[in-house]
Amino acid sequence: MIAQEKQQRNWQPLIKEFVALVGKNGVMQRREELITYECDGLTSYRQRPGVVVLPRTTEQVAEVVKICSRHSVPFVTRGAGTGLSGGALPVENCVLIVTSLMRKILDIDLENHRVVVQPGIINNWVTQAVSGAGFFYAPDPSSQIICSIGGNVAENSGGVHCLKYGVTTNHVLGLKLVLPDGSIVDVGGQIPEMPGYDLTGVFVGSEGTLGIATEITLRILKTPESICVLLADFNTVEEAGGAVSDIISAGIIPGGMEMMDNLSINAVEDVVATGCYPRDAGAILLVEVDGLEVEVVTNKQRIAKICQHNGARSITTANDPETRLKLWKGRKAAFAAMGKLSPDYYVQDGVIPRTQLSFVLKEIEALGQKYGYYVANVFHAGDGNLHPLILYDNSVPGALEKVEALGGEILKLCVKVGGSISGEHGIGADKRCYMPEMFSEADLETMQWVRQVFNPKGLANPGKIFPTPRTCGEGARADSVKQFKGVERF
Ligand SMILES: Cc1cc2nc3c(=O)[nH]c(=O)nc-3n(C[C@H](O)[C@H](O)[C@H](O)COP(=O)(O)OP(=O)(O)OC[C@H]3O[C@@H](n4cnc5c(N)ncnc54)[C@H](O)[C@@H]3O)c2cc1C
Repeated sequence: MIAQEKQQRNWQPLIKEFVALVGKNGVMQRREELITYECDGLTSYRQRPGVVVLPRTTEQVAEVVKICSRHSVPFVTRGAGTGLSGGALPVENCVLIVTSLMRKILDIDLENHRVVVQPGIINNWVTQAVSGAGFFYAPDPSSQIICSIGGNVAENSGGVHCLKYGVTTNHVLGLKLVLPDGSIVDVGGQIPEMPGYDLTGVFVGSEGTLGIATEITLRILKTPESICVLLADFNTVEEAGGAVSDIISAGIIPGGMEMMDNLSINAVEDVVATGCYPRDAGAILLVEVDGLEVEVVTNKQRIAKICQHNGARSITTANDPETRLKLWKGRKAAFAAMGKLSPDYYVQDGVIPRTQLSFVLKEIEALGQKYGYYVANVFHAGDGNLHPLILYDNSVPGALEKVEALGGEILKLCVKVGGSISGEHGIGADKRCYMPEMFSEADLETMQWVRQVFNPKGLANPGKIFPTPRTCGEGARADSVKQFKGVERF
């Protein structure tokens, strides 16, 4: 059951103002319309928003936010809703501001290697808009055919190519922001390394808690002269992990380096049938090298040798775009393919030092056995960013709690070996109770100061990222999500 029926607020005065501003088509208020917006990619928690508003311009966003501020109504921003940590999960009696009508490319400046976009534009569209001229936009989350640039900015998203090129923050030059009081400000600019405080850096990764990005200036890069993808298969994940460490130790920085274990390989082959991933392999490694032709040829040979030295059974290489795409296809479809194995999955997102890969994967397997769940592993191996996918059935009473406890143990393990509780999916509603695993009270307090400077009334995405004292300690995870007023499990 969903909590919405108990809502008390009379939305009519706000709806009237929103309709006057963005028109009838830009406001959703009927129950059946709101259902779509109850959750993001963290589907186990749902909360229906009070009203959904779809502005088209910065000025409209500013006015919507001013109305919220005047009525002291919290607001949550939503891009495409693919976030996996509950960042765009509505809070009780909130206005959900959705950017999906803000999908314009405002400027393309090839000479200066930059584009200016509205936040709702889909990640992949940026590359599509400039690829004909020999450019690309580097950060490429696996969700890139659907997620928005605004969401990427808010989550500081990563992707396959972030090993070499860096995550979103390395590609955002400037932002036009609507602050939580409705004022419009510009941070950063048209060139990198602007003087003064790095407010662009502060905003990127702030998960909708500091305001709304309404125009984003992105850095684009020249398409490399040559690209090659290698697929190496191994008997064990330890062997593949050894190859990852050795490739980096040899001073090679591939464009991307991804690993999938046996469970994931078989799920993917069942669903997208690439025909390229050997079903009996303990693990496969996908390594992309790019750059000048001569560099690619040399690195390809060096990587193949390192993989063989670590026990690779076979190595396939692809230079032409079509075969490269075929090799990547399975990896890109890996999360979706989990539906073949299990009705539900809970994806974790931890980071570990690369040297701990084999140890941590063994520990995760042991934890899975302890809790009685299969855990598939698909991840950005090059930067130690793990994505253990815990397979479960949410219709079994108590399963979600157990799965979350298992996920929590995995995160604590990541921290214990010197890693982090999030590589790219953000903290959102999902992981805020684990913040004290990484940060001291003083650290968290400092972050709160920053939040309060931008968001003094606490109306922008309240309850996300930060734990309250009650949500720390034993049994914190369940409490932390329940603490969202009105959030109910379904
Ligand atoms: C199958 C799948 C694969 C994925 N693979 C990856 C991956 O490889 N790498 C990765 O990093 N992530 C990945 N993700 C997670 C997700 O796609 C990213 O976090 C993405 O950046 C979210 O974008 P979105 O538009 O869906 O944002 P939403 O989910 O709508 O919102 C995410 C957060 O951003 C805030 N927000 C949205 N727009 C704005 C704005 N304009 N201004 C301020 N705040 C805003 C929201 O309030 C929320 O806190 C994956 C998700 C799925 C479902």
